[in-house]
Amino acid sequence: MTHGEVVCPRCNNRLKVPASSGGKQAVCAVCQTVFGISQLQPHADNAHDQASRTNPFSAPQIQATTMSHVASHRAGFVLAFSLLGWFFCPVFSIAAWLMGRGDLRQMDRGVMDESGRTVTQVGTIVAIVHCVVTALGLAAMLLFLIFGAVASVSM
Ligand SMILES: [Zn+2]
Repeated sequence: MTHGEVVCPRCNNRLKVPASSGGKQAVCAVCQTVFGISQLQPHADNAHDQASRTNPFSAPQIQATTMSHVASHRAGFVLAFSLLGWFFCPVFSIAAWLMGRGDLRQMDRGVMDESGRTVTQVGTIVAIVHCVVTALGLAAMLLFLIFGAVASVSM
């Protein structure tokens, strides 16, 4: 930028001045008012700020930063995983349990969308119940096998 713009304090006429003329004096071509160009730099910054604020391309950036502060919840994902775990493979239940627990903590801290809290809680509880039931079932099976083995050895 080789030229700056100053606004006459009296008639608001815009004057083009060399960018290096800060601290010098300018004479308004319309009203002949003499004024210092010390306000060249702040004025230019102001104009730039306003331009970037009204710039439609800067709006998505603002949205993107607010989106990154509050992550979208994964309630449907957690619930789907807990149901997959219940009907197919307990590994899904463990994943849903860990995922739901982490998401609920993030909602407590306010960094995740709270609208999915109820569904996330349901999914997490279903996953925990299934994990406990599966663990109890495995323990019972293990005991059954051990006692069965002991019984067959003692016969
Ligand atoms: Zn003027």
